[in-house]
Amino acid sequence: MRVVVDFDLCESNALCMAAAPEVFEVRDDDFLYVLQEEPPEELRAKVEEAVRRCPKQAITIDDGAGAAKPPPAAAEKPAGAEIKPTTPEL
Ligand code: SF4
Repeated sequence: MRVVVDFDLCESNALCMAAAPEVFEVRDDDFLYVLQEEPPEELRAKVEEAVRRCPKQAITIDDGAGAAKPPPAAAEKPAGAEIKPTTPEL
């Protein structure tokens, strides 16, 4: 897994640092630093959380097959089966 940050989008609000401080650090100079560009798999959940939290969608995880954009944060609604009331036959 490789962490890619689009620094043109990043606004250094440190939300990613809150999610994954092992990987992201916003320093006193107000710039984001990626501490581990290739973090271990153990940190995947935290990095994914950082991806979700980033309001600028500046973080992507590259798993080798090209950078993949994170899925939209909104949960998909399950397709509800339509329940039709049946009238009992008398
Ligand atoms: S959460 Fe996004 S915008 Fe904020 S510092 Fe991290 S990469 Fe930059």
